[in-house]
Amino acid sequence: MCRHLAYAGPAIPLARLLFDPPHSLSRQSWAPRDMRGGGTINADGFGVGWFTPAGAVRYRRATPLWSDTTLPALAAALPVTGVLAAVRSATEGMPVVETAAAPFGDTAGPVPHHGGDLTAAAGPWLFSHNGKVTGWPDSMVKLAAGLPTADLLTLEAPTDSALLWALVRARLRSSPPAAAVAAVVAEVEAAAPGSRLNLLLTDGTTIVATTAGHSLSVRQGDGCVLVSSEPLDDAPAWRPVPDRSLLVADAGELAITPLGEA
Ligand code: GLN
Repeated sequence: MCRHLAYAGPAIPLARLLFDPPHSLSRQSWAPRDMRGGGTINADGFGVGWFTPAGAVRYRRATPLWSDTTLPALAAALPVTGVLAAVRSATEGMPVVETAAAPFGDTAGPVPHHGGDLTAAAGPWLFSHNGKVTGWPDSMVKLAAGLPTADLLTLEAPTDSALLWALVRARLRSSPPAAAVAAVVAEVEAAAPGSRLNLLLTDGTTIVATTAGHSLSVRQGDGCVLVSSEPLDDAPAWRPVPDRSLLVADAGELAITPLGEA
């Protein structure tokens, strides 16, 4: 498992998601409560992406979130309106490197180890995957073969999650976000049955998420929406998202439909 969250709403300090709440993402990195499908802690890296007038920016590391001594003060002083953050427990056989940590997406500024032009077409999205594609890598060879070469050349890491992002990104060029995400889940489940596919996608305003094998909760109100693998606190407004759901939400709207029926 990994743990991920997305927020859309009025500006709040980033620390309000990562560090301040009793069950913050940082706490979830070493004491997650609802692990399914193996794994104990999320120590194999983390990432935070947020939206700015210059585009999305990311801060990622291949080390545990709790061990970062710079981020707490930075996060306390950084107002954010749209965020996707994740802590990672690497699936066996997949590398523990910064580029394998979510969020994936097109971000402002120089893109490490390849030019920015090839990734510019997908728009301002941030993406994360909690789960595992079964039969990796063979199961996804066929799926990857359908991708434009440019998308394969810009894969950030040799992991299932990076390839899932490439599949979603390709779909986003011609489909609305919820349809793109649902189509990728269907496509991957056909090629790799038994996969766990909790996907999370946001442009800073709209959040699209799936549940297929892992936990997810949502909290909406006061002009904001927060979607998280595990509730950050005991507030009664948290509501669990049933397994095999497609969630589409923004600060005012929330729709949860069964996966496959969207
Ligand atoms: N399979 C993904 C990875 O290795 C996600 C892992 C997870 O959800 N634990 O990065």
